[in-house]
Amino acid sequence: MFHLILTACLAGSAGTCAPVLLPAGYAADLAGCESGAGQIASGWLSRHDDLAGRGTDCVATDDLPALELHKIAPGLFVFQGDPVQLEDSGDGRIANLGVVIGGASVAVIDSGVSRAQGQELYAAIRRLTDKPVSHVILTHAHPDHVLGTAVFQEAGATVIGHRALPLALELRAGSYLDSMDALFPPEQMLGTGIVLPDATVDDVLEIDLGARRLTLTAAPTAHTDSDLTVFDHASATLFSGDLIFRLLTPILDGSLSGWLQWLDTPPDPAPRRIVPGHGPVAATWAEAVGPQTRFLRALEHATRARILAGQPMSQAVPEIVHAMQDMAAGWNAFDASVARDATAAYKELEWQ
Ligand SMILES: [Zn+2]
Repeated sequence: MFHLILTACLAGSAGTCAPVLLPAGYAADLAGCESGAGQIASGWLSRHDDLAGRGTDCVATDDLPALELHKIAPGLFVFQGDPVQLEDSGDGRIANLGVVIGGASVAVIDSGVSRAQGQELYAAIRRLTDKPVSHVILTHAHPDHVLGTAVFQEAGATVIGHRALPLALELRAGSYLDSMDALFPPEQMLGTGIVLPDATVDDVLEIDLGARRLTLTAAPTAHTDSDLTVFDHASATLFSGDLIFRLLTPILDGSLSGWLQWLDTPPDPAPRRIVPGHGPVAATWAEAVGPQTRFLRALEHATRARILAGQPMSQAVPEIVHAMQDMAAGWNAFDASVARDATAAYKELEWQ
């Protein structure tokens, strides 16, 4: 199979260019890909007025750059992100991404930090199967999870998220794109934009990929206000998104009380494996959530103590970071993340 690659350059900066994969050009042979190339590329460019085209190519599936996917169960694959903070990463590819192959179609769980990463995920899927990607499920609004979506939407996938995801993305899209542009080279972020979901989950939604069922469950406010989990029934695997962090220090951007409550309610039936938002796949619920639960309880305890002592936030935050130092082992980006978490926890708990 052949794929249409457009070389796109930032308008006004002809030296900043990157390959853009256009799924509409997917064809069984080279001639089929080449025949539609010009029209598809100009149609796409007309919707991206910050970019200018500099030629097209047709590339065989095996020659496309592709993410490395690990098979964790039949028809179930994970890209394992580097469990560090965005600021400490060269390319922002820090989140775990999932691929579920059903009898008729494929679902993607989170799309990565950029169009480029989304394209490499798309290419990795095409090496595994020709089945269409029917769904992109976004576990929450954070940029390392959602910015690779466009290529899948162009391939015909329905984009699904929590009922609160559209608002979260609309409010934060601009600042997410600005901060990714500040962190990473322009070639890496070229063509990256926000894609709003086509459908949302109020409570629970079932998806059928053809003899393979996924259950999507919207969580109450916890890590963020738009957390969504995905359970694959065939393999009894739970994708938790960032409701579970491993190795990378948890980031609180929703509700500490809500998050602790979510962690206190193990899923029923018990999953056979759990794919966290960051860090390695876990075999049991206890293994998945144990260290994070201890971390968040310690955060709650240290924050409440400072609030009860009447300390203002500016004084409390460094003391909370200090008080939590004995938990630092095993967590990446500990001090910077705890300072952010202490600020969020203080703001939430001072009114309780
Ligand atoms: Zn997150």
